Amino acid sequence: MPTLHEMLLPVFDEVVKRNPGEIEFHQAVREVLESLGPVVAKHPEYADTQIIRSLCEPERQIIFRVPWVDDSGQVQLNRGFRVEFNSALGPYKGGLRFHPSVYLGIVKFLGFEQTFKNALTGMPIGGGKGGADFDPKGRSDAEVMRFCQSFMTELYRHIGEYTDVPAGDIGVGGREIGYLFGQYKRITNRYESGVLTGKGTGWGGSQVRTEATGYGTVFFVEEIFKTTGESLEDKRVVVSGSGNVAIYAAEKVIERGGTVVAMSDSSGYVTEDNGVDLDLLKDIKLNRRARIRDYATDRGASAHFVEGGSIWDVPCDVALPCATQNELTAADAATLIRNGCAVVAEGANMPATPEAMHAFHEAGVRFAPGKAANAGGVATSALEMQQNASRDSRAPDMAAAVKSPARG
Ligand code: GLU
Repeated sequence: MPTLHEMLLPVFDEVVKRNPGEIEFHQAVREVLESLGPVVAKHPEYADTQIIRSLCEPERQIIFRVPWVDDSGQVQLNRGFRVEFNSALGPYKGGLRFHPSVYLGIVKFLGFEQTFKNALTGMPIGGGKGGADFDPKGRSDAEVMRFCQSFMTELYRHIGEYTDVPAGDIGVGGREIGYLFGQYKRITNRYESGVLTGKGTGWGGSQVRTEATGYGTVFFVEEIFKTTGESLEDKRVVVSGSGNVAIYAAEKVIERGGTVVAMSDSSGYVTEDNGVDLDLLKDIKLNRRARIRDYATDRGASAHFVEGGSIWDVPCDVALPCATQNELTAADAATLIRNGCAVVAEGANMPATPEAMHAFHEAGVRFAPGKAANAGGVATSALEMQQNASRDSRAPDMAAAVKSPARG
């Protein structure tokens, strides 16, 4: 495993001490500090300044109560978060995650990573992240709406098109952004569409924002293949997850001639040797909001559902972890390497554990870190903000450009 440069050890120790128990945040910070080793070796003056320490301390952290009424009339309580991490380059920018695992440590790791990812896009956006420990699974539209309205009733005072611009992440898509925007508009009496991104295209959203994260990850893989004169044609690809990132990564892989042989959700994974039927998967996940097991039931003999287990056991040339943090462990990496996997690109945020990443580097597997490989989503969000700021919609040209198979 890579070690920390000794000049950065005190920075890391301080982060661990000041943020007790927030293991995902510690992990994200450590990865960045490890990668900064060669920089401080060459420029020791950076380690001596407050710059690196400041990067590890959020500018503002907001935690709030979110009470809402479920369909049976019971009051439910959740905890909401917004961590405004860094505004050096622009308004705080980053998604909202609704998932029962959300706590401050998760939101901070995501906000920290977002700061670097956003900087890498070259767009004027700072880093932030938010969310709640709300579980949307099995909730009716009306319950999700009431939750979003209550969440925004507190959040609205902290955000704004020049202040902090949330978007989606796990558990937050177009439906949730719609409910949130409606409540923001109602409370503030402002049609400030640039306050949220990932909106519907009829009310300020950008074309291709929905597809951008997944498509971008695949474009990144194509660029990797181009360096050795290869392409995605005839490659067997495993895509973990079946949310927004996974679905559109799979769509672009298929369009480029690859075969998506497996996809998953938190209950297990499905394999289909001749390639998944993405229309069916989209119907199950986007319309029916059901479980991936239904995919295998509907497809019959050609598909196989594996409950639990690791999707990385499925042999492939390319692995696209698009589900969640730490979903690809050292053991999974060993299996992928043994099966001849050549490229791994992170569609999700921090899906590979540090041990897995290390194993890929050692084995010469080409590895694309999420801060670069999944930055297409937030970069498109920044374009959405620009369109909203100019009260314009230039999106159709962009849609044509990314959808065309002959992208140059
Ligand atoms: N949640 C996405 C990410 O991890 C996108 C955030 C955004 O568009 O602001 O980058």
